[in-house]
Amino acid sequence: MPTRRQVLALGAVGVFRIGQGLAWSQTAPAGPAAAQRALYLQPLGEALPDADVAIVRLALREIYGLDVRSLPRVDLPSSAYYARGQRYRAETLLSFLAPRLPADGLRILGLTAVDISTTKGKVYDWGILGLGSLDGSAGVLSAFRCHKKSRGPQHARERLAKVAVHEIGHTLGLDHCRRRGCLMEDAEGSVRTTDREYDLCELCRGQLAQAGHRLPSTPALPWPRP
Ligand SMILES: [Zn+2]
Ligand SMILES: [Zn+2]
Repeated sequence: MPTRRQVLALGAVGVFRIGQGLAWSQTAPAGPAAAQRALYLQPLGEALPDADVAIVRLALREIYGLDVRSLPRVDLPSSAYYARGQRYRAETLLSFLAPRLPADGLRILGLTAVDISTTKGKVYDWGILGLGSLDGSAGVLSAFRCHKKSRGPQHARERLAKVAVHEIGHTLGLDHCRRRGCLMEDAEGSVRTTDREYDLCELCRGQLAQAGHRLPSTPALPWPRP
């Protein structure tokens, strides 16, 4: 049984770990990997462009070999809105998402266009690209920051798909990775770190295999090799 309940975020200006004293609790067990193969996408609020969702689906299917299904769109929970920052709190979104994981689901990933935030150190409202619970059932992904200094919509959605792989990696138990170019790399202060990433490295793949996740060995990744 997982005992760690840290949450990891990939931020536009930093990647960081939140400590144990987190206010949200995991409501669905992470469970053994192999029995449940469906990964559910939960659109939150205004729908993302079809092409954005398509590349996220493709990336998750290619990397993890999971059956990726979309749930009907739901409104963003007002309880997650932080009016002062005009953003949605990522931990509250994870608490909202976790109980929505269908019985045959392995993980649930929220997709939203709005800016999301968490608390980093003394900064209460820190904008991030995504948040995933380590060994947990839910992750959330925001397209908002993927557009910053991007070369255009296709580049931004490639970043989005890489962040999706990163956050689901956290929910499957992967921590940040030191290998340059690995999709689990710590962004170290910039969304542009995703631009040098390509695939999960052999160490990360080995860790997932040990946990019982059978990954496709030759994924057709929907982004160019850096
Ligand atoms: Zn991370
Ligand atoms: Zn790695």
